[in-house]
Amino acid sequence: MSSGKVFHPAWCNSVGNVWDDNPKRLLVVDESGVGSRKACKACDEPLQA
Ligand SMILES: [Zn+2]
Repeated sequence: MSSGKVFHPAWCNSVGNVWDDNPKRLLVVDESGVGSRKACKACDEPLQA
């Protein structure tokens, strides 16, 4: 796992877990705001809205 921050291009299972635990930690952005952050791998298989 990367030690750097990641962003979530989709609403993945990890987002759901963090949302339940501590929404303030959540970082969901579009590509214009990611900077050097890496995309969350779990977002390859996002949850269906
Ligand atoms: Zn994710």
